[in-house]
Amino acid sequence: RRVSDDQMRMLIVGSPGSGKGTQSTRLLKHYDFSVLSAGDVLRSHIQRKTDIGQRADAVIKQGGLMPDQVMMDLIGAEVKTLGSADWLLDGFPRTLGQAQMLDEMLDAQAKPLRLVVNLDVPEDVILDRILQRWTHLPSGRVYNLSYNPPKVEGKDDITGEPLSKREDDNVETFGKRLKSFHAQTEPMLEHYRQKSGSVIDIDCRTQTSPDASKTSSQDLFVNLRGDTSNQIWPHLVAIVQSRFPALKPASSS
Ligand code: ATP
Ligand code: MG
Repeated sequence: RRVSDDQMRMLIVGSPGSGKGTQSTRLLKHYDFSVLSAGDVLRSHIQRKTDIGQRADAVIKQGGLMPDQVMMDLIGAEVKTLGSADWLLDGFPRTLGQAQMLDEMLDAQAKPLRLVVNLDVPEDVILDRILQRWTHLPSGRVYNLSYNPPKVEGKDDITGEPLSKREDDNVETFGKRLKSFHAQTEPMLEHYRQKSGSVIDIDCRTQTSPDASKTSSQDLFVNLRGDTSNQIWPHLVAIVQSRFPALKPASSS
């Protein structure tokens, strides 16, 4: 007999610049769980100049994607080490192929995904945001000059270290990243939409207060449409709370 399964196994997906990292970081301030960010894992390889890092450096500068199998090996190994601890993946899977590999691994462990949240941000909002984004590269913490500025200009809030622009946060590379999002990531979103009993669609621009009854279902796929991270946040936190009530509060803040 199985004990009840209350482990958080969740994806946060969305176009480049949709705020996946921002929302994950905010969730971490409330709850105790592990976040694996594919982009951060790759950037850490680049900084450490590993073989994968050298490959990733070239791919990322061009706005391309790393091969599915490389990503699966990297992230799959990390997910395995987390065992039955709560986790959220940011930026993986990002293609249909990656999603199928991940699903297969999780199904084999009888630990299927429980929630996929899509951050559905209109494209015209996103470019602006990317150009205003500054990153603390070692930690992956992101700041936005207009709505989420650092406490001290140009410095990370926690370490005081300098912030920098990501090399791929420029107009040209961003155009390529958006193109690969449409070609590669939208089929993956479709895959999870179809796996879901019914799709929960919330327009966070018009529906301002979260409706917990909408979010208590067993459905896999939730679409949150919004212009800003502040619009999306209350809905996201309500969904996470209602789907994973056993999550522990963050130990430090
Ligand atoms: P944002 O950080 O704004 O959400 P993003 O999702 O495009 O934007 P990252 O997730 O940080 O950025 O990824 C940066 C780059 O790393 C991608 O453009 C891509 O080249 C590579 N990359 C990240 N995740 C994957 C993945 N799952 N598969 C293949 N390549 C990836
Ligand atoms: Mg990111």
